[in-house]
Amino acid sequence: MDLGTVAVIGGGVIGSLVARQIVDQHPDSTVLLLDRDAVGCGASRRSAGLHFPRGASERVRRMSGYSQEFYEKLKADQPDAPIYAVGMSVLSQASRGDLEGIYTEPVRRNDSPAALDACGAEVRLPADMSVWDVRGAQYADVHRMVQAVVTGLRPRVGVREGVRVTALEPGGRGVGISLSTGERLTVDRVVLAPGPWLGAPAWADLVAPMGARIKKIVALHIDQPVAETDRAFVFHDEDAFLLPLAYRGHWLFSYTCRDWDVDPDQVGADLDARDVERAQECLSRYAPSLAPRCTSGRVFCDAYSVSGQPLVRRLDPDGRVVFAGAANGSGYRLAPAIAAEAVQLFEKSVKGNVR
Ligand SMILES: Cc1cc2nc3c(=O)[nH]c(=O)nc-3n(C[C@H](O)[C@H](O)[C@H](O)COP(=O)(O)OP(=O)(O)OC[C@H]3O[C@@H](n4cnc5c(N)ncnc54)[C@H](O)[C@@H]3O)c2cc1C
Repeated sequence: MDLGTVAVIGGGVIGSLVARQIVDQHPDSTVLLLDRDAVGCGASRRSAGLHFPRGASERVRRMSGYSQEFYEKLKADQPDAPIYAVGMSVLSQASRGDLEGIYTEPVRRNDSPAALDACGAEVRLPADMSVWDVRGAQYADVHRMVQAVVTGLRPRVGVREGVRVTALEPGGRGVGISLSTGERLTVDRVVLAPGPWLGAPAWADLVAPMGARIKKIVALHIDQPVAETDRAFVFHDEDAFLLPLAYRGHWLFSYTCRDWDVDPDQVGADLDARDVERAQECLSRYAPSLAPRCTSGRVFCDAYSVSGQPLVRRLDPDGRVVFAGAANGSGYRLAPAIAAEAVQLFEKSVKGNVR
């Protein structure tokens, strides 16, 4: 199917996988990938890149399963892709039934006193919690993965970096796009994958009705050696995790930061005292010896939807502009499924002769 000329705005993990899926599935289409920066340098650059096989709704569980298979195939086809399988132990007060309703892989209770030993990190089990082993987890160097995906796309996709979209004007016959270079394009369709830049003047009015908001995300780095056999620990009830980042040689602790309505151009890359204090307080409940060692890390933000599910939807009456994002801090692990849904919306439009 020829989708015509499609501009993908935003070369993060979502936009780059959208571009890839279009040229793989509809090779007669012409695809342009536009980014105001170098590709992969938005939220994707700071991502912890953890995939856990779970979802709070049926749709997200389906998306999680689809994405897991996509990444497994990518790794099988390209063994040097920066995607690494990791064991995962979930600590929670939840019952087996509750966890089975959320995780898409079998959860196996691990009552062995050694469940938390020999896992690299010094984790203890709070009272009333159990340890559950879950398969299917992996993590990625998302920044490097996006670079690799886009490098592979270059023969088939026009990649324009350092080019900001300054206006986006959908109409009955096409979509007008103005660029910071002064150039003006008209394309048949647009996928808007702007990560946390929802407030950009070019599309702020188009995306405002979705009600998505921007939240800061903080992850701390811990200088603790990592062995290939170390496992990730998910502190399910806190929405936090400890991840052995073998490719960087240190551990990472992610907790839920509750700073809303931040501006991606203002949030900066530096931790402040409150970030460190809140992370240490959370981690001290599980790994008191590691908590004081959380003194560095990474900070950025992401777009969050009202429903808690990623947003993939048409923004104009003709269905020429599709938004793909607001993945609620799970944009790496759900990106392949988000991309697939965006492409499906265009396929439906073309079948309905909306061009
Ligand atoms: C610290 C941290 C830890 C995280 N950990 C995880 C995790 O463990 N697992 C997980 O699944 N997710 C995680 N996430 C979330 C995940 O990284 C994001 O959901 C994902 O990277 C979003 O991808 P994206 O393509 O939507 O956005 P981005 O990667 O932000 O890409 C958007 C792109 O749009 C471009 N752009 C913006 N405005 C314009 C314009 N006007 N013109 C042209 N281009 C424009 C930007 O330059 C950017 O490259 C984490 C995020 C952070 C910050």
